[in-house]
Amino acid sequence: MKRVVIKVGTSTLTHGSGHINIRRVEKLVKVISDLQNAGNEILLVSSGAIGVGMGKLGLPERPTDLPSKQALAAIGQCELMYLYDKLFSEYNRTVAQVLLTNDAFSHKSRSQHMKNTLLRLLEMRVIPIINENDTVAVEEILVGDNDTLSAMVAKLVQADTLLLMSDIDGFYDKNPSKHLDAVLLLEVDIDDASMDEVAGGAGSNRGTGGMITKLHAARIAVPAGAATHVLNGKDPDILYDVFEGDKVGTEFVRKA
Ligand code: ADP
Repeated sequence: MKRVVIKVGTSTLTHGSGHINIRRVEKLVKVISDLQNAGNEILLVSSGAIGVGMGKLGLPERPTDLPSKQALAAIGQCELMYLYDKLFSEYNRTVAQVLLTNDAFSHKSRSQHMKNTLLRLLEMRVIPIINENDTVAVEEILVGDNDTLSAMVAKLVQADTLLLMSDIDGFYDKNPSKHLDAVLLLEVDIDDASMDEVAGGAGSNRGTGGMITKLHAARIAVPAGAATHVLNGKDPDILYDVFEGDKVGTEFVRKA
């Protein structure tokens, strides 16, 4: 049995149009329910609220100003939770909405409250679905697409594993959207400073973090004892491979 934080990015959850990728979300829900049935404890950190909000309002493009993004996140979050609630209940699973802010983690009593709530939800066999509270905080909208938040959650609940599901197979030795000869790295040392440059910028107009925020996330989660991997979220069945111990995607390690 493992305690695992799974983070899914906007580009995994939505189509290029910005609308929700229903088939993929359905599959993700099915696999997570099955992994929970097998005895694992799963916490899902889900981005996608802005994308879902865009779809709901029929906007063709992601807005650039912050208040519009926050407003869309508020609209999309309801729809996203409605969808998760509906899909997970098909497998008799109960979910809980948990909205967090980065600064609460450095606040002693607030972080204890968050931890108590999350651990009690896990005891109740409920799947917490976590996102940044985008009305009161904007860190993840601006830079992280929840990569950092998911690492802080993994540290808080002492997770065994953090899985960052992306729109790409893993961390390459250069940005694969610009270099056709880029090679997938099976392992990345979190203390290797040269990796910051390799991590490059975000790839799609829907995701925001790119590999740099995954590297930053790994620098929080790996020292806290969570095995951290980046893997492709396009087929959620990949989660079975990870739970079976197969080498998929990129694992962040500390070599020293
Ligand atoms: P998500 O949040 O869903 O993971 P992002 O767009 O934020 O999506 O991040 C993934 C993107 O980062 C890739 O599609 C790729 O274009 C870009 N990227 C930049 N440098 C690298 C690299 N070295 N290895 C892999 N992807 C990279």
